[in-house]
Amino acid sequence: MMRRKNDNKRYFTRMGTRKKVHAFVRVKPTDDFAHEMIKYGDDNKSIDIHIKKDLQKGFVNNKQTDWSFKLDGVLHNASQDLVYETVAKDVVAQALDGYNGTIMCYGQTGAGKTYTMTGTTENYKHRGILPRALQQVFRMIEERPTHAITVRVSYLEIYNESLFDLLSTLPCVGPSVTPMTIVENPQGVFIKGLSVHLTSQEEDAFSLLFEGETNRIIASHTMNKNSSRSHCIFTIYVEAHSRTLSDEKYITSKINLVDLAGSERLKKSGSEGRVLKEATYINKSLSFLEQAIIALGDQKRDHIPFRQCKLTHALKDSLGGNCNMVLLTNIYGEASQLEETLSSLRFASRMKLVTTEPAINEKYDAERMVKNLEKELALLKQELAIHDSLANRTLVNYDPMDEIQIAEINSQVRRYLEGTLDEIDIINLRQIQEVFNQFRVVLSQQEQEVELTLRRKYTLIDKNDFAAISAVQKAGLMDVDGHLVGEPDGQGFGLGVTPFSAKPGKKAKSKKMFKEQLSTSARKEGASSPVGGKDLDFSTSKTQLTPSSKEGDVKDMLMRDRETSSTEPLPLDSPKEELRPPRPSTPPPKPVAFEDFKNERGSEINRIFKENKSILNERRKRASETTQRINAIKREMDMTKEALNFQKSLREKQDPP
Ligand code: ADP
Ligand code: MG
Repeated sequence: MMRRKNDNKRYFTRMGTRKKVHAFVRVKPTDDFAHEMIKYGDDNKSIDIHIKKDLQKGFVNNKQTDWSFKLDGVLHNASQDLVYETVAKDVVAQALDGYNGTIMCYGQTGAGKTYTMTGTTENYKHRGILPRALQQVFRMIEERPTHAITVRVSYLEIYNESLFDLLSTLPCVGPSVTPMTIVENPQGVFIKGLSVHLTSQEEDAFSLLFEGETNRIIASHTMNKNSSRSHCIFTIYVEAHSRTLSDEKYITSKINLVDLAGSERLKKSGSEGRVLKEATYINKSLSFLEQAIIALGDQKRDHIPFRQCKLTHALKDSLGGNCNMVLLTNIYGEASQLEETLSSLRFASRMKLVTTEPAINEKYDAERMVKNLEKELALLKQELAIHDSLANRTLVNYDPMDEIQIAEINSQVRRYLEGTLDEIDIINLRQIQEVFNQFRVVLSQQEQEVELTLRRKYTLIDKNDFAAISAVQKAGLMDVDGHLVGEPDGQGFGLGVTPFSAKPGKKAKSKKMFKEQLSTSARKEGASSPVGGKDLDFSTSKTQLTPSSKEGDVKDMLMRDRETSSTEPLPLDSPKEELRPPRPSTPPPKPVAFEDFKNERGSEINRIFKENKSILNERRKRASETTQRINAIKREMDMTKEALNFQKSLREKQDPP
C-alpha cells in the first residue's frame, strides 16, 4: 500500500501490484560503432562498457574500466515500429483502462530523443511514439463501443523554468502573453493557462501535434532558444464512461510523453551567458527529476521534493506513484561519446530500481449519482403505491412529514398518555417512527416539568441543615457545591438567605426564631457575638436557594437582628427553649439526620418525592405497555405481509405467467 501524504486524490484508486520503472536503452545507429567498448548481452537486456586503458599514459591510474548495466531492454538498430511496441504499447493500452502512464526520453543532445518521441515528419514510417500513441488510442476507442471515451491533448514546453503553451492559439507564445502557473487541487496537478484541446478523431490530434512541433521550431528561432535545451511534455487525457454498466462511475487517465532536455554536462569553462544559464537550469531540473523519482520509490519517504522545479512539479501526479513509468535512455554508439553514455546509463540503472504501484483512477459523477437515486426513489414509490392499492390501503402518503402532521402526532401522544385517546393508528413506517419520537419529546418535557416543580418547592433549604442538603443531593437536584443540578455554572442557586422583604409573611416568624437562636448561643458561648461567623446556627431561619440572595442582605438582616436583640434581651428561661431543644454544636450522623429530617421538616419533601416517584413509575409502565402494543402490531403486520406473499405465490402457481 502506498502511504504517501501527497496521494490525497478525492477519487478512488484500485490498487495494483508493485511494478518497477521500466528502463530501456536505445542506441543511435552509427557507422562508427565502438564494438570493442560497447557489448550487448545475449538477452538484449544488458549492456557492458569497457574502456581501454590508455597505453601511452601507462597503467598507473587505477580508475574503473568495466561496467555492466542491467535493463529491461536494449534497442539497437531497432525500427520506430519495434521501439513503440517495446516501450509504449502497453502503457497506452493500460491508459484506456484508467492507469496513468509516463514515457520519458533521456539522454545527451543529438542521441535521438526527439527522433524517438516525435520522429520525422517527412517520412510516415519514421513517425515516433507520439503519433503512434494517438493512433493506438483512437483505434482502441473504435474497438470499445461499450464506452464513451473522450480524448484531449495539451503540449507544454519548459525552458529555463518558464512555461510555454505549444498549442496556444495566440500568435506569439511566451510567458508575457500566457502567464501559466502550476496549480494543485485534490484531483491532481494542472497547469493553469495551458490550453487543452478536445480531439474527436486521429486527424484532429495529428494536426494539433503538427502545430505544436511548428510552434516549437518557430519559438526556437524567434526567442533564440535551442529546442534541445527545453523539456517538452505532450499529454493525452482520456476519460471513459461505460455505456452499459454504471454511468456514475468513470475512469480517467493521462499519458505523458516527455522529451527531456539534453543531459550532457557542459564543461564549465567556456560556457557563458545563455548557454550557461540553460545548462544550469537543465542540470538542476534533471537532478531534481532523479531525486523525486528515487524518493517516490522509497517506501519510507513521506516527502517527495516535487516543487523544486517546474518539470517535477508539472509531472507531480504522473511520476512514479500510481503510474506506469517508462524511461528510455538514448545513447550514442561512438567511442568519443562514451563518457556521456556512461553517465546516461548510470541514470537509467538508478531509475530501474524505482518501483511504482499503478492504480486505476476511478471517479464518481456526483450529479449522475443523485439523478440515479432520484429515479430509484420514484420507482420505489410507484411500487409502494401498487402494493397499497392491492392491499386496499388508499391515500397513504409516504412523503416526509410537515410541522402540522408532527404537531398532530404530538397531540395524539399527549392524549394517549393522559388516557383520553385509546389507540394511535399505525399508518406507515415514517409515522411509527414519528410516534416514537414524539413519545420521547413528551416524556422529556414532562420530566423537565417535574424537575421545575421540585425546584420551585425546594428553594427553601437551610444552609447548615446537612440532612436537608443531603436529601436534596440524594434526589440528584443539587451537587456537592450547593448548586442545583442542571443549572449552568455560575448561575446556580447558591445557598443564601432571602432578604426579609422577599418573604413578607415569614418575616416576623423568622426574626423571632433568629432572636431565640441568638440568645441561646449567647448564653452557651458567652458574650461573643456569632454574627457573620461560620458557626452561626441558622437552623430555624429559612434559607432560600435563590439567585438574588446576596451576602449584603444577610449581613443587613443580621445587623438589624443584633440591634434588636441587644436592645430587647430575651428572658433566659424562655418557654420556647423547652419546646425546641438547642441544637448540638456538632451535627448528628448523616443517616440519623436524614431519617429525622424525613420524619420532621422533610416530611413534605419526602411525601412529594414519593409521589413523583410513583408518577414516574406509572409513566414508565405505560410507556412499556405502549411499546409492547406497538410490537404486537408490528408482528401482526409481518404476519399479514407473509400471508400476502403466500397468497401471491399461490396465485402464481395457479396461473403461471
Ligand atoms: P535529441 O532530440 O536527443 O537531441 P534528435 O532526435 O534530434 O536528438 O536526433 C538528432 C539527429 O539524429 C536527427 O537528425 C535524427 O533524425 C537523427 N536520429 C536520431 N536517432 C535516430 C535513429 N534511431 N535513426 C535514424 N536517425 C536518428
Ligand atoms: Mg531533441
